[in-house]
Amino acid sequence: MKNKELADIFDRWANILEFMGDNPYHIRAYRNAARLIRDLSEDIEVLAREGKLTKLPGIGQRLQAKILEFLRTGKIEEFEKLKASVPDTIFTLLDIPGVGPKTVKLLYDRLGIRSLEDLKRAIERGDLLKLPGFGPKKVEKIRKGIELFEKASGRILLGIAVFIADGIINQLKEHSAVERISVAGSTRRMKETVGDIDILATGKNLEIIDAFVNLPNVKEVLWKGTKKATVIVEEGEQVDLRVIEPDSYGSALQYFTGSKSHNIHLRTICIKQGYKLNEYGLFKGDVKIAGRTEEEIYEALGMDTPPPEIREDTGEIEAALEHRLPELIDYGDIKGDLHIHSNWSDGASTIEEIALKAIEMGYKYIAITDHSKSLRVANGLSEEDLLKRNEEIDRLNKKFQGKIKILKGTEVDILPDGSLDYNDEILSQLDFVVAAIHSRFTQDNTKRILKAMENPYVNAIAHPTGRVIGQRESYPVDIEAVIKKAAETGTALEINAYYNRLDLKDVHCRLAVKYGAKLVISTDSHHVDHMWMIKLGVGTARRGWVEKKDVINAKGLRELQKFVKEKRKKFGIS
Ligand SMILES: [Zn+2]
Ligand SMILES: [Zn+2]
Repeated sequence: MKNKELADIFDRWANILEFMGDNPYHIRAYRNAARLIRDLSEDIEVLAREGKLTKLPGIGQRLQAKILEFLRTGKIEEFEKLKASVPDTIFTLLDIPGVGPKTVKLLYDRLGIRSLEDLKRAIERGDLLKLPGFGPKKVEKIRKGIELFEKASGRILLGIAVFIADGIINQLKEHSAVERISVAGSTRRMKETVGDIDILATGKNLEIIDAFVNLPNVKEVLWKGTKKATVIVEEGEQVDLRVIEPDSYGSALQYFTGSKSHNIHLRTICIKQGYKLNEYGLFKGDVKIAGRTEEEIYEALGMDTPPPEIREDTGEIEAALEHRLPELIDYGDIKGDLHIHSNWSDGASTIEEIALKAIEMGYKYIAITDHSKSLRVANGLSEEDLLKRNEEIDRLNKKFQGKIKILKGTEVDILPDGSLDYNDEILSQLDFVVAAIHSRFTQDNTKRILKAMENPYVNAIAHPTGRVIGQRESYPVDIEAVIKKAAETGTALEINAYYNRLDLKDVHCRLAVKYGAKLVISTDSHHVDHMWMIKLGVGTARRGWVEKKDVINAKGLRELQKFVKEKRKKFGIS
């Protein structure tokens, strides 16, 4: 699908126009087109072929012509010309969180700042403070933005890497030349950001390489040999594929999965036992002992095989040697998604569409958790609308009886003083209540969250630290205090599986397990096409040594309802 690539072009177009001070109406048209195309569930090429482009809201004849030009030629002449008229480095500046086109223009016009380096120097010299509307607070925000940007640049979000890798593997798996195939590297370890995407395969090498470089979503072939190829895919990321000899597949997979620190520690164990381990196999002298599978390598060393997600040298090697590895929650263990927005608030899908998707995914239940009234930007529901929505859920539950249970939920705002955006009367009518902070990200939010957990109807805290990967750090919060309170009150902490959140993150999950707090893994989907991301949340949980028993939505409906009831009982409500 070329949707994302096209949306990126329109976004950049809007940025350049804004940078140049073009008229706002014009800018908005491109911005809206970008958003629309990015959120489309259909392939833009298919819509174009069927002549349906101008049926999309905001797409007129002019935009249609541009979209068609892009689909035909891979670029848009007018955009290429426009792009050439502004310095390239401006785009880097626009990618810094908290720096919009207007700021970039001001920096450029007044201080001649054209690049990230220029900007950093100007901040150091205190030049920014001389600009109108730039106080110490604003400058600090930009400095933080640069820090985040530099940390994230060159890294790919896990969700994007998984999406690309799964897409490629699912296509190649069907090919008769392919015997075994797997992703390796940090994508296999489900790290929240990954460096590059590595795929390993066994089979007929020439045919596999050919099939790989000719996949429909390959945009450019950087290198093609007989056993290895490197391509750029439509999403703009680089993917490497290596074809491995079958009797080295396990050792190559082990080697390329890492982490570096896991492999270094593992090698010291090999040396102690008189072995040598490399990507070709486990050797004693010149004799190869193992290499076909990862399991036979670890077994030869007297160890259990640590799941890839925990190979970070944080105790898994010792546990594998002593045969006490945790039984991690599995990707198929989730029985239902408990944080989904419908089109009653700011979601794009109807409750019925969500239910159908959930049935397709094999879920037993879902919770529809639309936003509460104070969150006006997200079309939060008034009490009246919430109750009306509940009636629709009742109706759908009758329709889908025996197939899935739709729980009445909310993502209720935790107000600045820790009270909730709906009163208890309303909350008591819901099956599952998720509470969350969506405002005042700079204040210490510990007390605010602790107080919300004291409410008997609050079953989970959504995205508990508020961080957005590469864009926003966690708000100040004492996560240990939150975890202890969660365990004490019988409130679950969410692992928000949405690809740019993954919040709680892995290390916090591990801390939660240590204190006996329960977790819930949910996607925060705003469209049925987001629901697959549950996989990213399970991966994050596995990285945090989370077991099935720690996760409330790995349990059946009855046990989940018991979890809700028990908290109410604890607070004297029957
Ligand atoms: Zn939220
Ligand atoms: Zn949400």
